[in-house]
Amino acid sequence: MPSPKRIPIFDGHNDVLLRLHLRAGAGAVAAFLQGEDKGHLDLPKARKGGFVGGLFAIFVPSPKRKDRAGGETRSQENARETAGETAGETAGETATVIGSDPAPPAVDMAEAQRVVFAMASLLFRIERESKGRVRVCRNAGDIERCLAENTLAAVLHMEGAEAIDANFELLDVLYAAGLRSLGPVWSRPNAFGHGVPFRCPSSPDTGPGLTDLGKALIGACNALRILLDLSHLNERGFWDVAAISNAPVVATHSNAHAISPHSRNLTDRQLAAIGKSGGLVGVNFAASFLRPDGRHDRATPVELIIRHIEHMLEHAGEESVGFGSDFDGAMIPGELGNAAGLQILVRAMRKRGFSEPMIEKVCYRNWLRVLRRTWGDGA
Ligand code: ZN
Repeated sequence: MPSPKRIPIFDGHNDVLLRLHLRAGAGAVAAFLQGEDKGHLDLPKARKGGFVGGLFAIFVPSPKRKDRAGGETRSQENARETAGETAGETAGETATVIGSDPAPPAVDMAEAQRVVFAMASLLFRIERESKGRVRVCRNAGDIERCLAENTLAAVLHMEGAEAIDANFELLDVLYAAGLRSLGPVWSRPNAFGHGVPFRCPSSPDTGPGLTDLGKALIGACNALRILLDLSHLNERGFWDVAAISNAPVVATHSNAHAISPHSRNLTDRQLAAIGKSGGLVGVNFAASFLRPDGRHDRATPVELIIRHIEHMLEHAGEESVGFGSDFDGAMIPGELGNAAGLQILVRAMRKRGFSEPMIEKVCYRNWLRVLRRTWGDGA
């Protein structure tokens, strides 16, 4: 019997640009193109696991917050834990506190712009030095060409709009450079709205939603056809966007609240709204958003990812579920390891009885459909 074929995987969220940006010294571009032991995602690991493309996030870490004893708090999002085995644990979704925790501190615009330019530049340098192996995609046709040519398809995403001015001038410039996806907030307050702090157990309904400027930003993104990512909005912000936006509702890296009662996860009502809008939810591999107890635990079984997918398929619909790994931004199940292990999930879906067409939808077809619908046909 021939071995079942590999399925390409398009992914809704990774933080590799943050990992490369935070790494000490030079060599970040080469580290991605040649690969290295640490980290979840680089070009060799992508090729090994069938990771054909995804949204590459620009993320501006929060300033350091001091606790009363004068040390950095454990909840600091960008805390660099040198003891962590993967760089993914040094940044991103690492802040969950069991119980309640205040939102991470805000970031000012000048600092945000400095980091945004540095991280965007990193992706463009990777593309330039890749000799055609990596391409920054600006429309759905670009992504389809990449799939056909075995080129890694990178979509420039920004997680948190702190760098954007009130006249949306930088939005125009970033769009012209290639930005095609934006999360108005990360899990902290900014001029556009209130992000959802990391709490478990907690409802995602943690505070006020979008500001007036945030509502204007939704209109500006709709006009440019920039995808809006709702993953870090609290519930009121989610409903604000769903009411205003003329685009499909998308949460690039969030899970089912019914299974893991984390503030970052989506209620069944939110999942249904995503499905009804023709949008998408990308299943997040972060252990703390997968587990019913919200713990950071590498010993989290891969089957739990499949359970979230099944629940989301049931509530959002079979056209509206994909992947949103959070590679290099979170602690993920040790069984999966990194991007090289992605076909483990394909095997787990087969074992669970998913049909091949359904597996293809979850792995890449749904993402391609939503991007095409959001961006328009393009060239
Ligand atoms: Zn995130």
